Amino acid sequence: MYQEYDYKNRILILDKFYFLTPTSTEINETGTCISCTMGLESLSYHELTKSDGSSYNIIVARCVSCSLIFSIWHDSLWDWIEDYQIDEFFEYVKSKGIEEYDEKQKVSIKKIDEISKKRLYFVFSPKELEALQAKSKGEKYIRQNLYRARQKYSLFEELFGIKILI
Ligand SMILES: [Zn+2]
Repeated sequence: MYQEYDYKNRILILDKFYFLTPTSTEINETGTCISCTMGLESLSYHELTKSDGSSYNIIVARCVSCSLIFSIWHDSLWDWIEDYQIDEFFEYVKSKGIEEYDEKQKVSIKKIDEISKKRLYFVFSPKELEALQAKSKGEKYIRQNLYRARQKYSLFEELFGIKILI
């Protein structure tokens, strides 16, 4: 499984699909480093429910000595499954993404262009949408139109379960 971790925001992304925000960032000793055998300290806790219904508790932890980062997988009953070293890192930039929540709280990041126009036009005016698209691409936009669009984000989320973070 391809794993990426955002150290700053403590977000774990699996297979570029499951977007897992932390359920806790408590610091606990969580075992030993498979590389140097020193202790691991937790950075964040995550819960994963896959599309086949299986669920997991994942702890991301860092070695206190060599600083390697691992994901420690447990099943839903907290029985240990396996440790994986994480070596892909990213920093989640909120202004560039949209989080789409489905019924199981899985989240994927989408570009505004990937959201159905029908849905967008249902809530936003053409001018507001223009401002949203421009802002997401880092282009010039009319501030007032973006401001008006932002006031409709919660409505959009309520209607379609899509959270806009532009
Ligand atoms: Zn180590």
